[in-house]
Amino acid sequence: MSLIVQKYGGTSLAGARKVKNVARRIIKTREAGHQVVIVVSAMGDTTDDLIKMAYQINEFPNKRELDVLLSTGEVVSSTLLAMALHGMGFPAISLSGAQAGIKTDATYSGARITDINPARILKELEKDNIVIVAGFQGITDDLDVTTLGRGGSDTTAVALAAILKAERCERYTDVDGIYTTDPRFLPEARKLKEVSYEEMLEMVTYGFKAIHPRAIELGELYGVPILVASSFNDNPGTLIHKEVSMEIRNKVRGIAHDLDVAKITVVGVPDRPGIAAQIFVPLAEAGISVDTIVQNASINNTTDLTFTVAKSQLDIAMAVVEPIAASIGAGKCASDSKLGKVSIIGSGMQNAPGYAARMFDALSKENINIQLITTSEIRITCIIEEALVKDAVKTLHRAFELDKNGKE
Ligand code: ADP
Ligand code: ASP
Ligand code: MG
Repeated sequence: MSLIVQKYGGTSLAGARKVKNVARRIIKTREAGHQVVIVVSAMGDTTDDLIKMAYQINEFPNKRELDVLLSTGEVVSSTLLAMALHGMGFPAISLSGAQAGIKTDATYSGARITDINPARILKELEKDNIVIVAGFQGITDDLDVTTLGRGGSDTTAVALAAILKAERCERYTDVDGIYTTDPRFLPEARKLKEVSYEEMLEMVTYGFKAIHPRAIELGELYGVPILVASSFNDNPGTLIHKEVSMEIRNKVRGIAHDLDVAKITVVGVPDRPGIAAQIFVPLAEAGISVDTIVQNASINNTTDLTFTVAKSQLDIAMAVVEPIAASIGAGKCASDSKLGKVSIIGSGMQNAPGYAARMFDALSKENINIQLITTSEIRITCIIEEALVKDAVKTLHRAFELDKNGKE
C-alpha cells in the first residue's frame, strides 16, 4: 500500500465546515487504497491573531514562550480534524510535532529540522490510524517546543514525506495550483501543469508567496514530488518535480514580483581591498539581510555601491551604514523606499540567448525605467519603481506569451 502525505493550509481549515470537508477528502484518498499522513496548518488567521495577542501583552515577548504559543494553533486544527474523522467513522490520531518525532535546533521562530524519528507515526499507521501531525513545529534536545518560521507547515509535510518514503507530498490550499504569476495580482495568470524544483525555488525566493522555500529545497534533496492543488475542488494541480518535459522547458515559466524593496546607495566609496567587508559585516551583524548588491566600475579610485534591503529594515540599515561611510571617507548615503522587483524565471533560459533583450525591450515600451538588474542561470530580475510593478508584470506576461499558451 503506498503512502501519501497531504498538507492542508490555514484557509482550507478555517471553520468547522471546512474541517469536515478536509476530513471527507482524506477519507477519499484512504478509500482509494493509500495510507495517509496528514500535516495541518493553524485554522485561518490563528497564527496572526496569536502573534498580535502576544505583542499586546508584552512588546518584547520571550521567544521560547512565543513559540509554544504559536505551536498551539496547529495543535487545535489537528485535534479537531481527528474528531471530524472519528465522527465519520474512521480511526485517526493527532500528534504534536514532538510526538511525531520532529527534532529541531533551538532557533526559536526559525528552527531547522535536525532529525525525525518516525517510530510513533509508523506504529500508528500499523494500527490503521490516519495520522494527523501538527505542522510548523518541533522539539529541541532539551524538550523545548520550537516553530519553523512562517509558512513552515509545508516544510513539515515534505520532511515527513522524505523520511517516510512517501510516494508524494500533496499540498492543498485555496488555489488549484501554481500559476504563471500570482492570480490575485493578475487575473490572466494561467495554471502550470508542472514546474521543476529549481524553477519553483527561484519563484518563491523572488516573490511567489505560494509555498515555503525550505519545503522545495527538501523536496529536491530527497526527490519528493510535490503536488499543489485545491482543497475546494478536484481540478488537476501543479506537480513540482525534477524533470519537466523538453518542450515545456524551453521558455519562461513565470513572472514573479515583490513589492518589498528598498535601496541604499553609498557614493564615492574608496576602491581598496576590505571596504566591502567594512560595510557588509556590520550590516550582517545587525541582522539585516542584504539582497542585490551592485558596485560600479571604479573611476579615480572611487566607486558607487548600491544594495537593497526589505523596506522594514531600511531605517536600521541606514543607521548602520551612514557612520561607516563617514569613517571610510565615502560621500553621502542616499535611499529610496518605493521600489519593487519583477523577475522572469524559466530553466529554458540557461541555454538560449535573447531573454534579457526581450525583457528590457518590453519594459522600455511601457516607459518603465530599470534601476538595477540581477540574474541567475534561470532568472532575470529588474528593480523598478514600486508603482510600476503591476504594469511590468502584465507586460512581461504578454511579452513572453504566458497568457496564450493553452497547452498546460
Ligand atoms: P495556505 O494557507 O494553504 O498555506 P498560502 O497562503 O501559504 O496558503 O499559499 C497560497 C496563496 O499563494 C494563494 O492564495 C495565492 O494568492 C498565493 N500565490 C502567490 N503567487 C502564486 C502563484 N504564482 N501561483 C499560485 N498561488 C500564488
Ligand atoms: N500557521 C503557521 C503560519 O501561519 C504555519 C503555516 O501555516 O504553515 O505561518
Ligand atoms: Mg502557507
